[in-house]
Amino acid sequence: CGIVGVIGNNRAKDILLTGLEKLEYRGYDSAGIMVADDSQAYLVKTPGRVSELRALANDVPEGHTGIGHTRWATHGVPNTENAHPHQSTSGKFCLVHNGVIENYLELKNDYLTDIALKGDTDSEIVVELVDYFYRQGKTPFEAFKAALDKVEGSYAIALMDVKDSNTLYLAKNKSPLLIGLGDNCHYVGSDAMAMINETNEFVEIKDGERIILTPSELTIFDRESNKLTRESFVADIDA
Ligand code: GLU
Repeated sequence: CGIVGVIGNNRAKDILLTGLEKLEYRGYDSAGIMVADDSQAYLVKTPGRVSELRALANDVPEGHTGIGHTRWATHGVPNTENAHPHQSTSGKFCLVHNGVIENYLELKNDYLTDIALKGDTDSEIVVELVDYFYRQGKTPFEAFKAALDKVEGSYAIALMDVKDSNTLYLAKNKSPLLIGLGDNCHYVGSDAMAMINETNEFVEIKDGERIILTPSELTIFDRESNKLTRESFVADIDA
């Protein structure tokens, strides 16, 4: 149970897989990544160890942007469909989630009765809800915020717009989430170890915050959509 992300680094696939290996100590039953280059996005996920995921992802290009997940199943058995990342049925969004969405059944009944869900997780509901609000005419970030306003529970979330791989959207509530600063690129992780091969400079994210991340910019908003400023810190740990 951990998430990783990278944006704007042309070793994206390896950074995600290495980050997931660093999160293995947290325990998990499945793992997956989505990686994008300028033309395409590639989704690979499997029950089992990160080494198995790495073998499955052998033919996937490095890409420059992506998200990854190690899962500790809370809703839905450990299988490929329930492994993260979860891509919405329209194909537009892809998401990794660490935590538990308490009102997922209610959200499913209120908004998603006409969606053919692929698995049984609480997490898949969130990506479909973002897609729902996007189809209502909101921008991707507005749709992400609208979905989060409906969600109750714990989460660290990284959302990819599959059609615009130059932006990641992040949110946190009661699950850990940290941003790593790179040279015209950014990293995301449940902890610093997941990113320590790439950077030792981090920005802490607090509960209720929503983030827009591009290769060059990190923009943090509070729950009321006020823009926040935050100093980074340097962590004194070894890779
Ligand atoms: N509740 C989600 C699931 O069962 C996420 C679990 C986790 O944090 O790994 O898929």
